[in-house]
Amino acid sequence: MSNLILFWHRRDLRISDNIGLAAARQESQKVVGIFCLDRNILDRSDVAPARVTYMIGCLQKLSSRYSELGSQLLIIQDDPTLGIPKLATAINAKEVFWNWDVEPYAKERDLAVSNALQQAGIKVKNFWDQILHAPDEIRSGTGNPYTVYSPFWKNWSNKPKAQPVETLPITYLELMTGLTAEEQEIANQAGAVETLPTAASLGFIWESPLVIEPGEDAARAKLEEFCDRTIYEYQDRRNFPAVSGTSQLSAALKFGVIGIRTVWQATEIVMETCRSEEARASIRTWQQEIAWREFYQHAMYNFPELADGPYRQIFKDFPWENDEKLFQAWCRGKTGYPIIDAAMRQLNQSGWMHNRCRMIVASFLTKDLIINWQWGEKYFMQKLIDGDLSANNGGWQWSASSGMDPKPLRIFNPASQAQKFDREAEYIRHWVPELRRVDTKFLLTGNISPIERRLLHYPDPIVDHNHQQRKFKELYKQQKIVDETATILQ
Ligand SMILES: Cc1cc2nc3c(=O)[nH]c(=O)nc-3n(C[C@H](O)[C@H](O)[C@H](O)COP(=O)(O)OP(=O)(O)OC[C@H]3O[C@@H](n4cnc5c(N)ncnc54)[C@H](O)[C@@H]3O)c2cc1C
Repeated sequence: MSNLILFWHRRDLRISDNIGLAAARQESQKVVGIFCLDRNILDRSDVAPARVTYMIGCLQKLSSRYSELGSQLLIIQDDPTLGIPKLATAINAKEVFWNWDVEPYAKERDLAVSNALQQAGIKVKNFWDQILHAPDEIRSGTGNPYTVYSPFWKNWSNKPKAQPVETLPITYLELMTGLTAEEQEIANQAGAVETLPTAASLGFIWESPLVIEPGEDAARAKLEEFCDRTIYEYQDRRNFPAVSGTSQLSAALKFGVIGIRTVWQATEIVMETCRSEEARASIRTWQQEIAWREFYQHAMYNFPELADGPYRQIFKDFPWENDEKLFQAWCRGKTGYPIIDAAMRQLNQSGWMHNRCRMIVASFLTKDLIINWQWGEKYFMQKLIDGDLSANNGGWQWSASSGMDPKPLRIFNPASQAQKFDREAEYIRHWVPELRRVDTKFLLTGNISPIERRLLHYPDPIVDHNHQQRKFKELYKQQKIVDETATILQ
């Protein structure tokens, strides 16, 4: 009888604090990892080259870790519903383990893989790993999932959190055992590739340096560095895009390069040892961000329809204007609004954008350009190194006012946002270098004369904020009447 367990990595590209992998290792010493380069995902039109490059970097590191431990990470390039059962059968795996995911595609895919494996007589075991609480653990008093963040946070934060799990035995004496040379040959015949493809060979060219270093060690180092210093001042500094005041852990959390329990434990340790009330409030604020991540993941799991459209009825048939030229100007960072252009160029050039700026540009696209938020959602996915369906969809629906947020309409004024959060216009000057000699006051208000714009080859504003704001409010009012009338007539 085989004692081989295949562990299928997806959004958990790490060895440590990995619930499913730890369970596999506890059950057998012979554990082999597998990752499927899924063409169903890679062929989608919303895949970012920076994200694939980061993912491949993480897979390289993961593969080396497996080798160090005496086992291996197999890579297949296939439809997982075919490739995983084929390989598991060929190498005579006893069981296949993996951690669950919340996304609609993943849920459907996992069910198909599970069925195929069981038909082949291979057992399947699954676990919750990427979130601190499983979706059915956090329910309102009526037993329903939450649709509003504040009561979710209250309930979620009061629940005890699990400690990180150890994948390996305490002593390193007993490591893993991998495939024999003969089994490896069989795995190769069943689709395992001998060398990990590069992002470029998969069709994703990212030539700039990655803003975030791939791999488990780098993610841990980032967490440590953040908890050593930045977390204590998070509340004061997190909104200023020119300042390095946030953790930059989002890509590692998206791909599970660091365990969420490890992250939480680190925050609890600094909380316990910190004496200043202000610093404790900062740590709490950061923990709330971790809860936002989880709130959106639970929302996606409980309401998968969010992936396809707005949560609020009023936005189902909203008369978006969807002007292609305005959209292109937004994408390229050529709107004539310095703060918007700085943010979009940061996204295009680095594959990352500061959270404050994500909110500003999303409000601008939806409320000023009157373009469907789903266009922006997709563009972000095409560029972001941390692009994640739940968080991105949640962020866009929040900004468009189409989501679960109870505040009906939120419109950001680009000038006041810049004045508040980029006071010296450092961020603007960095990303829009043609404007670096313009007076700070004009950079923030955007009141740059047409002559100066021409001289600097900087575009005129593509729309007038005040005019567009009135127009959007009017459309919203009319749509509300249409909706209410339709409800009454029903
Ligand atoms: C329109 C829009 C789109 C977004 N798209 C994404 C996305 O695709 N992927 C993504 O991870 N985040 C997204 N966010 C949330 C947020 O902007 C990023 O998580 C954050 O900027 C990442 O930087 P950080 O790791 O330094 O965050 P920190 O401020 O250090 O926060 C710590 C962690 O908490 C989580 N987090 C923080 N804020 C949020 C939030 N509002 N929603 C969900 N999780 C959050 C992230 O995992 C983040 O790494 C989006 C926000 C908006 C407004």
